[in-house]
Amino acid sequence: MNLRPGSRISAKAAQFTESVIREMTREALRHNAINLAQGFPDFPAPEEIKRAAQEAIATDINQYAITWGARDLRAGIAAKTAEWQGLTIDPETQITVCCGATEAMIASLLATVNPGDEVIVFEPFYENYGADAILSGATPRYVSLHPPATPDGEWQFDPAELRGAFNQHTRAIILNTPNNPTGKVFTRAELESIRDLCVEFDVIAITDEIYEHILYDGARHISPATIEGMADRTITINGMSKTYSVTGWRVGWTIAPPDLTSAIRKVHDFLTVGAAAPLQAAGAVALALPSSYYRHLSDDYLVRRDQLLAALRGAGLTAYRPRGAYYIMTNVAGFNFRNDVEFTRHLIADIGVAAVPGSSFYNSTLGSQQVRFAFCKRAETLAAAAERLHKLTPR
Ligand code: PLP
Repeated sequence: MNLRPGSRISAKAAQFTESVIREMTREALRHNAINLAQGFPDFPAPEEIKRAAQEAIATDINQYAITWGARDLRAGIAAKTAEWQGLTIDPETQITVCCGATEAMIASLLATVNPGDEVIVFEPFYENYGADAILSGATPRYVSLHPPATPDGEWQFDPAELRGAFNQHTRAIILNTPNNPTGKVFTRAELESIRDLCVEFDVIAITDEIYEHILYDGARHISPATIEGMADRTITINGMSKTYSVTGWRVGWTIAPPDLTSAIRKVHDFLTVGAAAPLQAAGAVALALPSSYYRHLSDDYLVRRDQLLAALRGAGLTAYRPRGAYYIMTNVAGFNFRNDVEFTRHLIADIGVAAVPGSSFYNSTLGSQQVRFAFCKRAETLAAAAERLHKLTPR
């Protein structure tokens, strides 16, 4: 920690680094590499929602929306949650629209966690959670998701290790299903075992479900709030970025019981006031898309997953088959690089493909031979990356 006397940097800011994922995007641009690092699509967003955003600006929806979200968007979120999850949500008291799932997560933690409280996080984790825990003053407790013994198997946690992470200081557990970076989709049995611990230790679940509609091989997304006994202790986080291919719009939300929602709304209001009003209006149109939209989304991603999986395996990487989300975690130990960072630098500078070093998803050293690739890209982009990956050889 860099805490010299007179340092102009806060103790909190000194505790974490810049996002490695976003850094890899800058590196990709510098080396003209194909960017399979950051999870944003390189294909267009749906026409109808782009038109809705244009119309919203033209019809002067250009001032602050209600701080916790435009009424139409909250109504759309409640209607979709009823249709897909069978949960009745009151948009007046249970929904807060934020600037992306990113703000939704930090606002949720700031609203519920006191300094010194422990927050359980499965590792590997989406790197924002580490910084979020520090910013909210929480102490993260990591529980391993172990890679499968074979590349087509499932990432698993050890129930005894999970139980051992719960104690009287535990305030919350962060869950991300479908999971970034592993592609794991938590099963009902796993979620019920987590529910039992949350009830026993009176813990809140903060669940990031941003990839809920991106699923493969018959996997089903089970929203943890739908598990019996969980609705009253769950903050569900979701957003437009991944489902509607608009990561730059920065529209996300929380769904939570009214007491938690009023705390989240206060934090959110003072953090950002609100998400972009015309894009919230377009969000209401997006959430009303027919169910065929979501089927096509998953079908299209399945083709991309299989294309990149074949390319990575063809190039000699151990590539774990994801059941959801749009990333493939790999093990690169066979290439004999010192570590994941060295491998990734070679990949970007000499091979021309950008990916993310696995260690940025870990607090421990377990990720030091892992590398994550994103496949939210056009077939041409993935084909060009495959051609370059063929040049990879062990050291
Ligand atoms: N949560 C997870 C698990 C993600 O992978 C990402 C983006 O990659 C986000 C949240 C960011 O979501 P948003 O764009 O809504 O802030």
